[in-house]
Amino acid sequence: MDAQANDRPYRTRRKTVTVNVGGVPIGGDHPIVIQSMTNTDTADVEATVRQIKDLAAAGSELVRVTVNNEDAARAVPHIVERLRADGCTTPIVGDFHYNGHILLPRYPDMAKSLDKYRINPGNVGTRYRDDNFRIIIEQAIRYEKPVRIGVNWGSLDQGLLTKLMDENARRETPLDAREVMREAMVQSALLSARYAEECGLPHDRIVISAKVSSVPDLVAVYRRLAATCDYPLHLGLTEAGMGMKGIVASTAGLAILLQEGIGDTIRVSLTPRPGGDRTEEVRVCQQILQSLELRAFAPQVTACPGCGRTASTYFQELAEEVQRYIQQQMPAWRRQYPGVENLRVAVMGCVVNGPGESKHAHIGISLPGTFEEPKAPVYVDGRLFTTLRGDNIPEEFKRILDDYVASRFSPQEPLTVDGR
Ligand code: SF4
Repeated sequence: MDAQANDRPYRTRRKTVTVNVGGVPIGGDHPIVIQSMTNTDTADVEATVRQIKDLAAAGSELVRVTVNNEDAARAVPHIVERLRADGCTTPIVGDFHYNGHILLPRYPDMAKSLDKYRINPGNVGTRYRDDNFRIIIEQAIRYEKPVRIGVNWGSLDQGLLTKLMDENARRETPLDAREVMREAMVQSALLSARYAEECGLPHDRIVISAKVSSVPDLVAVYRRLAATCDYPLHLGLTEAGMGMKGIVASTAGLAILLQEGIGDTIRVSLTPRPGGDRTEEVRVCQQILQSLELRAFAPQVTACPGCGRTASTYFQELAEEVQRYIQQQMPAWRRQYPGVENLRVAVMGCVVNGPGESKHAHIGISLPGTFEEPKAPVYVDGRLFTTLRGDNIPEEFKRILDDYVASRFSPQEPLTVDGR
């Protein structure tokens, strides 16, 4: 690989067909779509509408709801109607397990109002598996809906897995059982997609996912899928877990694949704390995409980690204050200043090394470290702009930030690709 190729922020995006989900395109050259799922009882229209709006406001571009029983199926059209009446246009995806073949034909208003169906081929029954699967696909064809064929390692098609295990046992050198499981995931997704097409579902109405809970398995399975089909891929770890464990595991897996150009829509399945904020999973998705420089959602405030050169916590406090200030301003800034989400701000802890670092940001400040003169140089677009002193540094810095945003991101001034 040549040096330039190494310097590219990411490898060329994998080529896929584009699937239109209620007006949101997935795949092709379209931005990687963020999605999430409600954890309310779908039959509770009020609670579900409220949570969908929260997720959409946080930046979820598709929201999935479980359609697990007749009450949920009856509620779906009311949920969608309420959302649309309130101006929320986010496409709604229905998640079906075991009874999709019964609910979809029985509740045509529900089938029509959803923007996509998600089917897990391992959960459509065993005895009449193909018939049940075909009935769901026929509904998707009738109402012109796309389908995600979402394989999950916890509910993998047992017939297929057994067949592959038996074949493996007959090999001269049998593969590791985990390897067979990975192959079964890939085959289950692709065979189901092929069957859906044989039933008449157009090729460009299929999205694939194959969720596992281990990062190495996720990477291996998706690399194989990416190499063998051109369906858009939905990335995500299943049962990622709570808090830091869930965030780190999801980031580790998704980052590897996205960096390789694999993945067209993502979800981070975090287990929320009791009463926790469901929108956290959306913010994690945004941060993953922004960290990989694939999409920009909000200005980034970077702060140095701090070291022996600064004993004070002043720079951390200022970094937090600036971050808070930007969050408060963003609703207005987003409307007034297109491209402001590309803004990079640096808050550094000492004047010896801080200026060098803060030159990489659009606007950076270095606070005095231990034994340093009490002054704070501010760099704008890599050049020393001013030096702040005294007790009013945070306010003065925020004023400089406001002026910079207004002059840099005003609509008259065209932006370059990276926002600089
Ligand atoms: S900027 Fe200064 S205080 Fe911050 S990590 Fe670097 S040397 Fe340490």
